Amino acid sequence: QKEREIIENSIRDIKDFPKEGIVFKDITTLLNNKEAYGVLMNHLHNRYKDYNLDYIAGIDARGFIFGAALAQMLGLGFVPIRKKGKLPYTTISEKYVLEYGVDEIEVHIDAFGEKKGAKVLVIDDLIATGGTANAAATLVKQTGAECVECCFIIGLAFLDGIKKLEEKTKVYSLIEV
Ligand code: IMP
Repeated sequence: QKEREIIENSIRDIKDFPKEGIVFKDITTLLNNKEAYGVLMNHLHNRYKDYNLDYIAGIDARGFIFGAALAQMLGLGFVPIRKKGKLPYTTISEKYVLEYGVDEIEVHIDAFGEKKGAKVLVIDDLIATGGTANAAATLVKQTGAECVECCFIIGLAFLDGIKKLEEKTKVYSLIEV
């Protein structure tokens, strides 16, 4: 509980970003706070050290920061799930609905190795509607790997993103606001 407090207190609320009416959760103040960043990474390491994972997949872009650090701590490989058009090799992609319009993320077709059924943890900083994470979990499955869990530092509970995602995969969000 003390851990959660340290982490939660390090995250800054920015009103009206990126547009009016939105309160943006700014995690840069978590990252530049060595105590909070350390507490967070140790918490995640503890949670996932006995999951027998094969890969950590981070969602573009803030999921890379936590995902790559966690992969190193666990001695695992890291896979980026990126916005469309950024990955150089053959990809599979998945569209998802935004408030206005659609977006698309993709992953390298061979990212999770040659054997089917690699155990993958998907990680991002925040879940709102769940659209992004849902598409990420779909991509992991389409490569033939297994999405063991989706992990978020922050879950926005007033949207039903977590509930929807739970129909598809296990979900962990450290701080629910
Ligand atoms: P969703 O697809 O609606 O769940 O939105 C989640 C995606 O939007 C994640 O990749 C987040 O990084 C990003 N996002 C949405 N709102 C915020 C915020 O307040 N702070 C940081 N990232 C956000």
